[in-house]
Amino acid sequence: MELYTPEVLISEEEIALRINALGKAITNDFEDEELVVICVLKGAFMFCSDLIKKINRPIKLEFISLSSYGDNTLSSGSVRLEMDITGNIEGKNVLIIEDIVDSGLTIKTLMEIMSVRRPKTVRLASLLYKPAKLKHSVKIDYLGFEIEDKFVIGYGLDYAGRYRELPYIGVLNAGH
Ligand code: 5GP
Repeated sequence: MELYTPEVLISEEEIALRINALGKAITNDFEDEELVVICVLKGAFMFCSDLIKKINRPIKLEFISLSSYGDNTLSSGSVRLEMDITGNIEGKNVLIIEDIVDSGLTIKTLMEIMSVRRPKTVRLASLLYKPAKLKHSVKIDYLGFEIEDKFVIGYGLDYAGRYRELPYIGVLNAGH
């Protein structure tokens, strides 16, 4: 197996500061209303965990799993629903928490799945956004960071199942 050394792109401190700001914005936007937070597994687990601690509103937490990437760094162009939420979102305020918007296909598919279930509102929080590859129109209501077209790992994001535990967002350099 090829060895890679992660290089820090966005530090733990920068992530924490941004999450504080996003948490405040979400708290303000939802006043006293309850939120159904849908964490998109696996990549968003760490972002979701840290973000919901900064949202000062009643929350019901759900998990969903979709896959568009296999064990490589290229999109397969199709999205599969691997695990659905268990609760009913009809008439509820929904906040989807995603790790990264790349082509936008995953989030577009997820929005379609959710909209037929008739929620009151659906908003999207995404830790990262790569505008270079965007193919579908996606509205990110709460964005962590816009990044260049590089394959990133860490803070929940993986390469072939690895690196999710890193506390920062990094890029992989081959051969170091
Ligand atoms: P999209 O459907 O927007 O093209 O891709 C979204 C999904 O692809 C993300 O949820 C994530 O799982 C994966 N993905 C896209 N770009 C990257 C990246 O730079 N690093 C990692 N680890 N996953 C990515």
